[in-house]
Parts: sequence; C-alpha cells; structure tokens
Amino acid sequence: MPTYTRQSVAFKAGEGCWLIDEDGNRYLDALSGISVCNIGHANPHIGKEISQQASQLLHTSNLYRIPLQEKLASRLCTMSGLDTVFFCNSGAEANEAAIKICRKSANDRGMDDALIVVMRGSFHGRTMATLSATGNEKVQQGFAPLLQGFHHIPYNDLEALEALTTGSLNIIAVMLEPVQGEGGVVVPDKGYLQSVRKLCSEQDWLMVVDEVQTGMCRTGQWFACQHEQVVPDVMTIAKSLGNGVPIGACLANAEAGEVLSAGTHGSTFGGNPLSARAALAVIEYMSSNDIAKKATRLGERIRADFERNLGEVKEVRDIRNLGLMIGIQLDRDCADLVGLALDRKLLINVTAGNVIRLLPPLIMNDEELNLIVQTVSDLIKEYLKE
Ligand SMILES: *Cc1c(COP(=O)(O)O)cnc(C)c1O
Repeated sequence: MPTYTRQSVAFKAGEGCWLIDEDGNRYLDALSGISVCNIGHANPHIGKEISQQASQLLHTSNLYRIPLQEKLASRLCTMSGLDTVFFCNSGAEANEAAIKICRKSANDRGMDDALIVVMRGSFHGRTMATLSATGNEKVQQGFAPLLQGFHHIPYNDLEALEALTTGSLNIIAVMLEPVQGEGGVVVPDKGYLQSVRKLCSEQDWLMVVDEVQTGMCRTGQWFACQHEQVVPDVMTIAKSLGNGVPIGACLANAEAGEVLSAGTHGSTFGGNPLSARAALAVIEYMSSNDIAKKATRLGERIRADFERNLGEVKEVRDIRNLGLMIGIQLDRDCADLVGLALDRKLLINVTAGNVIRLLPPLIMNDEELNLIVQTVSDLIKEYLKE
C-alpha cells in the first residue's frame, strides 16, 4: 500500500555507518533507519548472537517461561531504575501498553472518564490509541472518530501543566517524549522533566515517558530522562532496542507494573527468544564499548562544527541537539534536501517541514562525522542560494 513516499534507491548490504546499494554505490547513513541501527549496520556482535539463536530456538510463545526475556527484563530494570517489563514488537505497541496501564489504573481507582495529558507536537505511533495521543493533526486526519481520553497541552510549558492542578479535569497521567523527535527535535528547557516529575508525584498522576526514539544511548544516556535524574512511573522503548530486530518494551515501577494482571494484555511474539537475544547483545555491546559517552562526545563535536559552519547563515534559525539527536531548523520548508542529499550519497531526514533531522549511528568515527557536517552544511548553503 502506498503508505510511504519512498526513495527509489534500494540497499543490499550495510557496514557500520555505510549502506551499499544494488549497483555497489556506498551511502553514508546519518539516519540509522530512524534511530534503529544505533550500533551500525551488520554489527558483527549482533549478527553472531542472532544467527546462533536463530538456529537454536526462535519462538515458544509467552505461555512458557523465556529465560532470555527474563534476563533482558532484569537488565532493563537495572538500567532504568524501574521494576517490571512487558515486551512487544514496536514503539506504538509499547505505548498501547502504557496507555492501557493508565486507563486500567484509573478504573482501579474508581475514576470515570480519566484523561491522559499529552503534548502538542508529540508523536506516539500510528495505531488508533497512539495516533489519538499524538499531537499532530496530519497524523489524525481522516481517522475520526479518534479515541477519547487525551487532553493536549503545549510541550515544554510548565504553566500549562500546572494550570491543570486546579481545573476540573479528571487526570490519571502525563505522557511525553523527553525530546520530541518527529515534532522537530524539540529539546525542552533544563529542569522541565524534573518539574513534570515533581508535579506528577504531588498530584498522584502517572508520569509516562516515551523513549522510543530517545532511548538506548541516542542522547548520551541509556534513557534521555536520566539527563535530569528523572525516573518515570512508566517508560516505553523500541526502535534501537534490537538494532533492527523488531522488539518493544513497556517498563513500569512496581505499583504501575501490577496494573495489567494476567489476562488483561498480551502479545504473541513479544520478547521471544530471538528478539530478546538481539536486545541483550545490543545492551552488552553498548556497555562494553561506552556508547553513551561516545554519543555525548560526538554530539558536542557535531553541534560545535555545525555552529562554526552555519552560525552566520541567517536563514538557519536554530541548531540543537541532545547527544546524537540533532536538529537544524531553517526559516523555510526544506523537504527537498532529502533527495539532494541522496544524490550526494548521504541519508538524512527532514521533519516538521523545516527541521533537518540527523540520527547518525553512535559508532561513527571522526572522519564520518566530518563528512556529514561538510555535506549537510554545503547542501544547506546551496539550497538557500537557489
Ligand atoms: C517511532 C516512534 C514511535 C512509534 O514506533 P513504531 O515502532 O513505528 O510503532 C512512537 N514514539 C516515538 C517517540 C517514536 O519516535
């Protein structure tokens, strides 16, 4: 179905930060399959682990114990400070689980018509519940009736949230991204997440953090909310958890983790031996290679380099990053840059109309970083001239 406007190029192999097309041309990947292949294409460690698992055991269903899943859950809990995990296969599904926790929790407390506060400019997925939570009308257009129970407020606006404490709304939770990805790499003010945490605790609202794009070292910490020492009640991850093997997870603290009792939720594939083995291999690789620190260091460098190259260009409105989640905002729409970059064998993305979004592999070297900065800077300058 024509759900994507695709570029016509097709890749047959990958190698670290590089993709090789059917004619043997090499492309530098500054997008990582939208922050999925964070530790590079055809990572040998991951390849070895999943091929071993594939010839041993792929799937048994969640009707039986899955030791690899238990081990993965235990690792994720240690990394996040949370206590329980539900496994699924995508970001949208992880958010569905989070939304079900919120609703069930409200029901358990005897609240009718409880609302989940969500943010304008957010993105939480394409299923009916997650597109209803999403703060972007383009995503919702044509799919009415939307799911009820979401209340949208401006992002990074603490007063808008505080105003709800005295209103008449029945609130059960606040759900937000620690950096808005699809919304244009919007990095909130320092202290915002911590204030949201504090308010949620005071009001007995669940704090749900969608780390689907920001998680797994992308921003320089395992999870972006850790930049502010925030532990949410519920956290969702997916994208880079399996470095390309589909797996998602909804993490929760002990209290929120008890809400979905036996029979209230499920997933056939979720956390099967193959995807659990892949995610364990990703975590192992990231810890033993100090990938989070690397993302921080490279993020600082790439931002400084872009500022040096583009700081004087008046049409460049803003250059922002958290780790290796980078946004360059222009004063005009610039979707055409994606195709122009492709002509130069560079993969980039444009989101929110006028934000060039870069999500390069966290394992890139200095030379690859330089090539990204040079090519993107040149492209922007030429594009603005025309
Ligand atoms: C990509 C994304 C999702 C949806 O993930 P899928 O795996 O495509 O369902 C949800 N939330 C955020 C923040 C995302 O970036």
